[in-house]
Amino acid sequence: MEISKEYQKDELTVIWKPKKCIHSGVCVKTLPKVYDPNASPWIKPENASLEALKSQINACPSKALSYQEL
Ligand code: SF4
Repeated sequence: MEISKEYQKDELTVIWKPKKCIHSGVCVKTLPKVYDPNASPWIKPENASLEALKSQINACPSKALSYQEL
């Protein structure tokens, strides 16, 4: 089964699939307060608005990032 990590912000669940990530760094450049590869957890969705998170997730070139809304 594919590994998938989840990060919660309000009704939004950010899902990251490490095997799909091509480390393009688009997410880190767009939302540096959310994505920090040196931090743990490396995704802190509380540091951006839901709209900013969703538009950034949609821009992930590999689709390693996705989201679900309750
Ligand atoms: S934008 Fe997507 S593919 Fe690029 S580093 Fe972030 S998660 Fe990985």
